[in-house]
Amino acid sequence: MSDYRLNTKCVQGGYTPGNGEPRQIPIIQSTTFKYDTSEDMGKLFDLEASGYFYSRLQNPTCDMVAAKIAELEGGSAAMLTGSGQAANFFALFNICENGGHIVASSSIYGGTFNLIAVTMAKMGIETTFVSPDADEEELNAAFRENTKAVFGETIANPALTVLDIEKFARVAHEHGVPLIVDNTFPTPVNCRPIEWGADIVTHSTTKYMDGHGSCVGGAIVDSGKFDWMAHADKFPGLCTPDESYHGITYAEKFGREGAFITKCVAQLMRDFGCVQSPNSAFILNLGLESLHVRMARHVENGQAVAEFLEGREEVKYVNYSGLESNKYHALAKKYLPNGGCGVVSFELAGGRAAAEKFMKNLKLAAIETHVADARTCCLNPASSTHRQMTDEQLEEAGIPAGLIRMSCGLEDKSDLIADLKQALESLR
Ligand SMILES: *Cc1c(COP(=O)(O)O)cnc(C)c1O
Repeated sequence: MSDYRLNTKCVQGGYTPGNGEPRQIPIIQSTTFKYDTSEDMGKLFDLEASGYFYSRLQNPTCDMVAAKIAELEGGSAAMLTGSGQAANFFALFNICENGGHIVASSSIYGGTFNLIAVTMAKMGIETTFVSPDADEEELNAAFRENTKAVFGETIANPALTVLDIEKFARVAHEHGVPLIVDNTFPTPVNCRPIEWGADIVTHSTTKYMDGHGSCVGGAIVDSGKFDWMAHADKFPGLCTPDESYHGITYAEKFGREGAFITKCVAQLMRDFGCVQSPNSAFILNLGLESLHVRMARHVENGQAVAEFLEGREEVKYVNYSGLESNKYHALAKKYLPNGGCGVVSFELAGGRAAAEKFMKNLKLAAIETHVADARTCCLNPASSTHRQMTDEQLEEAGIPAGLIRMSCGLEDKSDLIADLKQALESLR
């Protein structure tokens, strides 16, 4: 599939049936796999042969879908996880253990922020947060002797900042560590971070990849480019024998292309078991088959809605990198030439009261905490997810009480705009 264009990979990547085999990827709903001899199975356990023995480690359906995602991102290997949270945890913990340190963009998804700032801190992993807009000097200052990875989101959820991937990759590499990029919002259809120097890419496939609000899931893709052995002292888990797995040295045995994902499966999936089910992987693949078609429509709707909102007096400002007025427009033109995603945020001039009334009067857009599926939805953090905070606290956190996050779905943009128009007019 590697010679085909991205649109073709979305439809047919990851699985090529043989003569008389199913056209659609088969759901291998089996926990275990049968072998004729113990020796046959022993080779699998020793990672001497590739094959399946237990679906907590690997499952053929999940692997087909992971292979498609690897092709889309231009990576060398990939794995599915049970959620985006598991993907980010595994990607980081695979190289950063007790005593390690992470440099992360401060404008990342709240769940990931909590994962690394609170939960991973309890595991003895410290993190220094840097502004996504930090210059090289500020970035350099965040590194320590024990830094193992740099982490950011291509388009942050929900801040919608755009990461300067090339800059972050350059600085990470100068310090001998990989850049991990969560590419959930643009998807590989709109940005492929590996082409800009990222080493590992993660996804919450729950969002656009699934695209229908059906299945929670995640994915990790390795570029296969980071030279672990050149920094062996920093990454002993990859570069010295794993006594918990038959004394294998992953970077030696599987090389740059395979070491990261093999270790992640053999150690972390084995021990934590955050698997995606074959059924979920099948549904995820249905989403991937139309990802390229859907992303174009999400972007078209997001752009139209952002332009409409920008001209309204009830609206204080609109945050969407496709707008020329946006702080990240230049970065978006570079990294997201076909547009970013369908998520737009805006602040209503009337604050909390206006936001509550506006939300109540929406007819087509549903009130949901979710983003990035076929149906348009809106959220006012001040009256829902962040309702314990005062107006002052919200302002300080950069989530003013009048802020609305809107995830534009696949409906007709004229209907979306008409819905917004009547809800805005009700504020007069
Ligand atoms: C939703 C999301 C996550 C978490 O993914 P889940 O599938 O909900 O666990 C991580 N990163 C980003 C950017 C997200 O939007």
